Amino acid sequence: MVSTFPNTTPVDLSQIRLAIRSLQPQLVEWRRGLHQKPELGFKEKLTAEFISQKLQQWGIEHQTGIAQTGIVAVIKGNQLSSEKVLAIRADMDALPIQELNEVPYRSQHDGVMHACGHDGHTAIALGTAYYLHQHRDSFAGTVKIIFQPAEEGPGGAKPMIEAGVLKNPDVDAIIGLHLWNNLQLGKVGVRTGALMAAVELFNCTILGKGGHGAMPHQTVDSIVVAAQIVNALQTIVARNVNPIDSAVVTVGKLHAGTTHNVIADTANMNGTVRYFNPALAGFFKQRVEQIIAGVCQSHGARYNLEYWSLYPPVINDAGIAELVRSVAQEVIETPIGVVPEFQTMGGEDMSFFLQEVPGCYFFLGSANQALDLAYPHHHPRFDFDETALAMGVEIFVRCVEKFFS
Ligand SMILES: [Zn+2]
Ligand SMILES: [Zn+2]
Repeated sequence: MVSTFPNTTPVDLSQIRLAIRSLQPQLVEWRRGLHQKPELGFKEKLTAEFISQKLQQWGIEHQTGIAQTGIVAVIKGNQLSSEKVLAIRADMDALPIQELNEVPYRSQHDGVMHACGHDGHTAIALGTAYYLHQHRDSFAGTVKIIFQPAEEGPGGAKPMIEAGVLKNPDVDAIIGLHLWNNLQLGKVGVRTGALMAAVELFNCTILGKGGHGAMPHQTVDSIVVAAQIVNALQTIVARNVNPIDSAVVTVGKLHAGTTHNVIADTANMNGTVRYFNPALAGFFKQRVEQIIAGVCQSHGARYNLEYWSLYPPVINDAGIAELVRSVAQEVIETPIGVVPEFQTMGGEDMSFFLQEVPGCYFFLGSANQALDLAYPHHHPRFDFDETALAMGVEIFVRCVEKFFS
């Protein structure tokens, strides 16, 4: 399953690269061990135990039980020229999905699966911790490695920040990566500014008046009202948002009615809103409610609306994004390796860290069609090319050395 590094020749290999690539078998072993024992958000007990046990074995100072299952490891460089602190963040939770892959390392936990690659993120962060600890003579400053729970929801970044993980010693900048099957192995997606979107959710129940399917004049048809709301919500992006800004309003679930000759009393819909521009915070909530209220009022229906602003957009700092870009270019070694201006409407709670300190989140390509490792994230057959693991460690390690130099 493990392929070779693309487009490299032995003469190009630096000492750092050789040392990191020799870790590849361990990275794969850790990742597969984690893959077999996936755990949902805030329940990453075995995962945290494994991380803590490794850090302990290597003699790396760390704190466990932060925001329930989170861990922070601290590695101080032996060169004294910098007091700066760089944080590296990895998420470690899995999803409620039944794995369909027939691999020797498939999930042993029924209905739970690492279908987003967070097992890989944890292995990369562990490999980075191990390498930096072994080579602490070669960098100045302090590295904090943050193992975060519950990225897939309800969100572990915020409680970790509230627990003080960015303080004492205070973090100057933060970096993090997501293995990404929307990019081929050997590519990195990074950009200054908004990389990923804000995530908002809503749940709305239309309260009409049910009755006989042949006597609509005696009813308030919740399905007709809901249908008009679904259409009208699309005008928020089409007619209210500045066309220069990208945004999405999706109604992902609509449920109403029981049979052909009964007018439905109620209809329930829920959906999600995505946007990049932080100035739009609060705007969609207001417009969604105005539209629902207006359509309901015009039909004599009532409604219950719940609206949640889950994660803000992921906004990268120009300086740290440039650091990651320059390092990725060295590591990837192909002219098209770094994809500029890469963006996705997916969301991530890395955004909360980036609201506190400058930093950069980036995508590390992990798809390999030739090995049938290209299913999308959150798919029951998701898997990735593990060659990306050592690449991730190398990017992090070189970022550390460059950041402090
Ligand atoms: Zn995910
Ligand atoms: Zn993810």
